[in-house]
Amino acid sequence: MKTLSAEFIKSATAPSHYPEGVFSEVAFVGRSNVGKSSLINTLVGRKNLAKTSNTPGRTQLVNFFLINGRYSFVDLPGYGFARVPEAVRRNWGPMVETYLSQRPNLRLVILIMDIRRDPAAHDMDLLQWLNHYRIPALLVLTKTDKLSKSQVRIHARRIADTLTKGADLTTPPNPILFSARTGEGKDVIWSFIEAL
Ligand code: GDP
Repeated sequence: MKTLSAEFIKSATAPSHYPEGVFSEVAFVGRSNVGKSSLINTLVGRKNLAKTSNTPGRTQLVNFFLINGRYSFVDLPGYGFARVPEAVRRNWGPMVETYLSQRPNLRLVILIMDIRRDPAAHDMDLLQWLNHYRIPALLVLTKTDKLSKSQVRIHARRIADTLTKGADLTTPPNPILFSARTGEGKDVIWSFIEAL
C-alpha cells in the first residue's frame, strides 16, 4: 500500500470533539514506549506523523489522522507510564473506553505489544474487553529485530498462549510480527487494513 497523503486532523478527549467525518477508523493502542508511534509512522512512510514521545502524560489525547483521504488512523493514548501522575492515569480508562465503545466509525483495533515482554494485565483486560464487545482486533508484536528468529517464534507463541488464557479467548490470537527498523510485517498489516 502506498501512502499518498497522511495528515493530522485533530486531538480530542471527549466524543463532542471527535471529527465529524464518515471515514472508517483504525485505532492503535498499547502501553507506552511499545513502539506505537513508530508503527504508525512506518505504515504511512512518514518520520514524524505520530509523535514518538518520551514525555509521560503528553500523549493523553485521542489523535486523529486522515490517510489517503479515505480513512482515519486513530492514535489512542498509551497506558502504563509509571511516572504519569495518578490523575492522568485514572483518566486513561474512561477516555479510551469511551472512544472504543461509542465510535461507530471504528472498524479495527490494532493492539501493539513488545515481542520481548510478557503481556501486562492491561493488555489482557483490553483484549478481553474488545472480544466481549466483538470489536475486531489485530495483535501486532513489535521490535522483532531485537531478537533472533528462533527467539521471536518462542516469544510469539508464549505471548499468544498467555493472552488466550488471561483474556479468556476461545480462539488464540495470530500475532503479526513487526519491526519499525526492518519494515517486517508492514505489508501484512496493510493487507488487513485494506481488507476493511
Ligand atoms: P510509543 O510510546 O508507543 O509511541 O513508542 P515509540 O514509537 O516512541 O518507540 C519507543 C522507543 O522504541 C523508541 O526509542 C523507538 O525508536 C523504539 N522502537 C520502536 N519500534 C521499534 C522497533 O521495531 N525496533 C527497534 N529496535 N526499536 C523500536
